[in-house]
Amino acid sequence: MNRIHTRLVLGLTLAVLVGCAPKETPPLAMPTPSHPPATPAETNTVTKTDAEWRKLLTPEQYHVLREAGTERAHGKAYEEFKAQGAGTYVCGGCGAELFSSAHKFDSHCGWPSFYDPANAKNVRTREDRSFGGVRVEVLCAKCNGHLGHVFKGEGFATPTDQRYCINGVALKFVPKSAAPRTP
Ligand SMILES: [Zn+2]
Repeated sequence: MNRIHTRLVLGLTLAVLVGCAPKETPPLAMPTPSHPPATPAETNTVTKTDAEWRKLLTPEQYHVLREAGTERAHGKAYEEFKAQGAGTYVCGGCGAELFSSAHKFDSHCGWPSFYDPANAKNVRTREDRSFGGVRVEVLCAKCNGHLGHVFKGEGFATPTDQRYCINGVALKFVPKSAAPRTP
């Protein structure tokens, strides 16, 4: 009887130990956050109605920025991009500083390419599972406008080996000479 009882106690102790293993921190001990963590939506400072966006943007800009469309490869915006010199690329929807000519490179893909954002806090990313694949979508953090996608590890000889493949119509170029010294 004693031996059986000991085995039972040992077995129960093991079961309790194993059962407790994933629950090292009881849920009750978790600190309750005073405010919920910031979500991307909360960083949006530019919110407009659909009608306002349609008024503000050209049909092509609206399609890219508000409907996550993609401009034609090697289009007019890309030709203009290649010819542009030093300057800043701001959001075509809200004017937030997004990319710099210092980070642009020729990836031969047919769309403006940058290896880094100029102002990381204005650029956010999220997983995009459209068209049967997994890509990383790039958006303006201020107005949530779709900009393009970012690809990593393609072997481009850039400091980051990242390619921000951005629609030219989603950007507005501000030449360095024309940029105001104070906003
Ligand atoms: Zn924007």
